[in-house]
Amino acid sequence: MTDTIPRPDPDDAETAAFWAGLAVGEFRMQRCASCGVVRHPPRPLCAECGSEERTWVASAGQGEVWSATVIHPPTLPAFAGRTPYEAAVVRLDEGVFTVTNIVDAQPGECSVGDRVELVVTEIEPGLWLPLFRRRR
Ligand code: ZN
Repeated sequence: MTDTIPRPDPDDAETAAFWAGLAVGEFRMQRCASCGVVRHPPRPLCAECGSEERTWVASAGQGEVWSATVIHPPTLPAFAGRTPYEAAVVRLDEGVFTVTNIVDAQPGECSVGDRVELVVTEIEPGLWLPLFRRRR
């Protein structure tokens, strides 16, 4: 096991637009060019109609906590110094889900249904992640 945070594969053409979007502050989702369904994470086929044609659209960055938990040791070595921390599944208002961290919550403080907003964060040089904070 490594003690560095896993990084996206820079040669993965399927996810490159997603990661490039984060670097400019956008959470990009694929939209099926045939039926219009928005999806995340990026994948080559539409689960609704099977089309390979797609475009990219940016989320408005608003959503709600769908589930939340507190991560305690043991974890991968790369995350050991960060525990305990709040991890959540957020449902964006566009209908897609993402696994993330809620940056302004103390462990255990997050609740299902909390409204959250995107805060793209460079957690290491060149590594941007779509994190969220609770809306006040
Ligand atoms: Zn489709």
